[in-house]
Amino acid sequence: MPDVTTARTARRPSLLAVFAHPDDESLTCGGLLSWCVALGVRTSLLCLTHGEHAEHARTKSLLATVRARELRAAAAVLGLDDVTLLTHEDGMLPWTDPARLERDILETIERTAADIVITFDEDGLYWHPDHIAVHERTVAAIAAMATSQADAPALYYVSLPAGAMRAVADHAAELSAAREPVTTAPTHILGVADPDAFGADAPPPSLVLDTSDFARQKLRALRCHNSQIRENDALALVTLETAPRLLGVEHYRRAKGRGSTGETFLDRLTSSPVLPRPVD
Ligand SMILES: [Zn+2]
Repeated sequence: MPDVTTARTARRPSLLAVFAHPDDESLTCGGLLSWCVALGVRTSLLCLTHGEHAEHARTKSLLATVRARELRAAAAVLGLDDVTLLTHEDGMLPWTDPARLERDILETIERTAADIVITFDEDGLYWHPDHIAVHERTVAAIAAMATSQADAPALYYVSLPAGAMRAVADHAAELSAAREPVTTAPTHILGVADPDAFGADAPPPSLVLDTSDFARQKLRALRCHNSQIRENDALALVTLETAPRLLGVEHYRRAKGRGSTGETFLDRLTSSPVLPRPVD
């Protein structure tokens, strides 16, 4: 087990994940968050909206309540120390006052004394406008910190491995075809119709983590987001047995020129080489 204490202070390190909607945390980095908890890292989440505008919303206020409850349950499964769930409007983050978003992010970084911040990469998983806005505002918040204090946190971006959600959809299709009678294969992943969209344009990772030991926790956390995993969702057919294979790799990229540049405990979590990019 790597030593996670920070060299500067020898105190318990703190990691903060910054995302847009309930379920982003479990899908993107549920494995790493669980791993950090197991290592004794103080592990926190900032979620900027309640995800109340999902397409099947019954009423927005009801869905907001349901999704808040689901997020608390997922956070409990992952073992998170701290969850901050804000009420910015779902779907509107690119048009929300950037200064307000940056202030909210900065305040949470300071309150949790984060040594490491994780957020979406610039592809926003699949060019989701809210995700891209969170990426941009988090980058701006940390850039603002760096000019005012020397010890801004280290910044990492998370993306989904290209093809990972296609593998989940293919697995669901195989299971459906093997059933008697044959059932229609689920095609969606958390409401997204094209599994190939996830990670398709993600920049190459600088850190590829084998999080398969924590994939079951990740799946359990994902399942807490019950309102998002409907009948036609391929994730519904991932089991505790198949989770390590289907959900057990996570991609991260250290931000260049933003935040602290020193080695962090994340850099010591794996000796896995960076996977080569597929040749088109
Ligand atoms: Zn999202």
